[in-house]
Amino acid sequence: MERELLRSEKLKVIGRLSAGFAHEIRNPLTTIHGFMQLFKESPDTGGVSSYHYQIIISEIERVNSIVEDLLTIARPEKVEDKDYLDLNEILTHTLYLFQARTDHHNISVVQALDTELPKIYGEEKKLKQVFMNLIKNAVEALEQDGSIMVETTRRSDYSRQGVRIRIIDDGCGMDAETLDKLGSPFYTTKADGTGLGLMTCFQIIEEAGGSMDVSSEEGSGSEFDIWLPVE
Ligand code: ADP
Ligand code: MG
Repeated sequence: MERELLRSEKLKVIGRLSAGFAHEIRNPLTTIHGFMQLFKESPDTGGVSSYHYQIIISEIERVNSIVEDLLTIARPEKVEDKDYLDLNEILTHTLYLFQARTDHHNISVVQALDTELPKIYGEEKKLKQVFMNLIKNAVEALEQDGSIMVETTRRSDYSRQGVRIRIIDDGCGMDAETLDKLGSPFYTTKADGTGLGLMTCFQIIEEAGGSMDVSSEEGSGSEFDIWLPVE
């Protein structure tokens, strides 16, 4: 009886997870397909701009990021591929990937980046993944006419050198229950979410020896405050 229950619970989780992933992967594929169709129908009109290419590249990166979330949980072994990273550059690149969407939804993006930010020794793919997930959530929380601010600053705490990254949006915010459950696997309030984005963020930041604090108010917005140590 108990085993039966466990089995049906597992199937439920797998079902939800598959539905979330299927949806998140299908959306960007639909966009890419649409653009390719357009290019095919009018190959010599010269109507293809770098803007179109940018959208296609962002959508491919989106699919990649979804797969990356899955791999973060599926792949327990640590692949050490570390380097000295310029977080400002990674953040700017990530925002650029969302530009088509933020422009389309009239979302203003403010970057307040410390030009003398020390480099962080870490895995580029993983840190990119963190920012990708956080900015994606911010865009999804805003829908229309909001703003996102990304700020980096140098910090030293009790003789520990580090960098602080804040990602702030004035979107829908979260209620107490959501705040409490943040980072739990599969916890999502979205009809087609996977509930894995923040879990992977917490995991990656913890692995990097840092921390992430979240504050939010329903109806006013959210703030993700990350601290990463400099080696
Ligand atoms: P998903 O985006 O697939 O739902 P996440 O782990 O990325 O999964 O986020 C979990 C939940 O946390 C979201 O469903 C949402 O309710 C809440 N959330 C995360 N980021 C924000 C944000 N910036 N603003 C409002 N709610 C957020
Ligand atoms: Mg998310």
